[in-house]
Amino acid sequence: MMSERPPLSVDADTESCRKALAFNNQTLSYIARGAPLAQLLDRIARGFSASYPERALAIFLFDRHKRRMSVGAAPSLLPAFLADLVELDGLEPDTLPFWNGLSALAARHGCRLLEVLPLRSFAGELAGVLTVCTPVDAPADASHLEQAYRDTVGAAVSMAMLSIERALVPSHAQVSTEPPDEANERMALAIEGSGTGIWDRNAVTGEIYYSRGWKAILGYEDWELSSHLEDAYLRIHPDDLPYVQETIRQHFASRSDTYQVEHRIRCRDGSYKWISSRGKVVARDDQGNALRMIGTTTDITEVRQLNEKLAKSSRMLDYLTSEIPGMVFQFRVPPGGRGYFTYVSEGARETLGLSPQQLLENPTIVDTMIHPEDLPRYEAARQMATATGSHWMLEFRVIVSGQGVRWLRGQARPRRLEDGTTLWHGFISDISQSKAFELELREYALTDYLTQLPNRRCFMQRLQEEHSRIQRGVCDTAAVLMCDLDHFKRINDSLGHAVGDQVLKHFAQVLQRQLRKSDAAGRLGGEEFAVILSGANLQAAAEFAMRLQASCASQPLLHEGKKVEVTLSIGISLMQVDSGSQEQVLRASDDALYRAKEKGRNRVEFAPFADP
Ligand code: GH3
Ligand code: MG
Ligand code: MG
Repeated sequence: MMSERPPLSVDADTESCRKALAFNNQTLSYIARGAPLAQLLDRIARGFSASYPERALAIFLFDRHKRRMSVGAAPSLLPAFLADLVELDGLEPDTLPFWNGLSALAARHGCRLLEVLPLRSFAGELAGVLTVCTPVDAPADASHLEQAYRDTVGAAVSMAMLSIERALVPSHAQVSTEPPDEANERMALAIEGSGTGIWDRNAVTGEIYYSRGWKAILGYEDWELSSHLEDAYLRIHPDDLPYVQETIRQHFASRSDTYQVEHRIRCRDGSYKWISSRGKVVARDDQGNALRMIGTTTDITEVRQLNEKLAKSSRMLDYLTSEIPGMVFQFRVPPGGRGYFTYVSEGARETLGLSPQQLLENPTIVDTMIHPEDLPRYEAARQMATATGSHWMLEFRVIVSGQGVRWLRGQARPRRLEDGTTLWHGFISDISQSKAFELELREYALTDYLTQLPNRRCFMQRLQEEHSRIQRGVCDTAAVLMCDLDHFKRINDSLGHAVGDQVLKHFAQVLQRQLRKSDAAGRLGGEEFAVILSGANLQAAAEFAMRLQASCASQPLLHEGKKVEVTLSIGISLMQVDSGSQEQVLRASDDALYRAKEKGRNRVEFAPFADP
């Protein structure tokens, strides 16, 4: 190894000087960063080995009891040699027995001690020893007398002393007994690689060390930027500075577990970036005063911009949905779970009389408002939509407390997500007005305008319902009556059409007064009326018919003080499970009516197949 060394020359000397200088600078930068002492000493040893690979440098530190406390050593040194140093524990370091012991130990491990240099603190106390060893079998030469080598050793001593001195300043971490932490270093590199910067602040001196990645966020090179706190504060956006300083004060005063701020910071080119800084005080003195705080910084400019964009589109969504008369919603149903609203527009107030917040907090509140008559329909539609994942659409009533019943129309479309969640997007609108209009129209469509009785269409529906009730066995029988006013034409002819109308209206009232709740009557046209007597047999129907005729006779319409007499003919048939369709039953009644007319009017006749 020795023979490979270049012969002494000016160039070789220059090269050595350069190495020594590089070693100095590198070590100084580590010291400035406030790395733990053990790590610093290890750096010094490794740095030395880089220049002199055939020689191994080791640094031992002593504690107050003269015990070896921490060792920084070149990796080439035998681990066993280092382990055996424990034998020297308790020996007064600056005495002959110690030095002899050290020599003997080195020899036992095949090493020759080239240097044994005491390391003293600035106060003159012996803090440790720096040694340089070489293998015993290495040929002796005079290279250890070279100036560059001596300079490097001298630098190593200075650096070691500086490191020790720095470690004695309480703001820096206690002297670590841990071996150099490779894992930590890898972690730091990984953090830097992720675009996060690291900072390390001495709370006593106000000095801040910034990692290369931190400087890169702001567009600075590694060698730029001062470490003064005042400069750091100048970079913070003036509007954010008071908040940042206050947050630090709170954390220094132990009022928060961690320090975390988001603020703008001025970059090298004068522009501002948004950053998120998180840190923690890692060392405090006996009184709890912060000594050192370390932390990370992340560039969140893009995230902020994205958030701003999102907020903008969310605002736009709110504007849009609040302009629509109705409630826009998003409803999320996780697989096997209960659904909940994830978005509700302001329209919830006018449709359901609830705030969006109430619905977001309590999604089942709507279920409690459904009109009892519509609840089965509402539940069925919901179950159907949930089971089949199909379009939901329903018109239903809700009872809004203090405001009464409201007709709503709801519609929503489901979207299945990959995780099995169903996301419903829908719309609920208040259709009370149009519903009222629709009901009115329906009423018109089913009611005879003159008598206000159900018209033919409505009566036929009612007859159909009765027919199916009998077919289903809900009841056995119903009587169906056809009634026709006798010689009505004469009334028109003699008293005028308007009086004819009055007679029709009057008769409708007389008829209605005879009906039970379960019965139904209708005006089928002209002066023809029909009646369903639910559950009635022929006997009951005949009694009803005669009662009606009697009422007609006893309560005639009075026109200009005179009675307008009118009689009526009635045909009756019975609807039973085997009596054919409802049309056939009605025709049978009509046939019976025809016979009543034939037989002289003001009579009651029965359908031939019925058994009176
Ligand atoms: P019948 O005893 O055979 O039933 O004789 P009718 O005159 O009652 O029967 P017809 O069928 O010959 O005449 C019915 C009349 O009822 C004819 C029509 O002008 C009249 N009419 C039908 N609808 C109305 C109405 O809404 N108002 C008035 N005033 N008359 C009507
Ligand atoms: Mg008639
Ligand atoms: Mg008629």
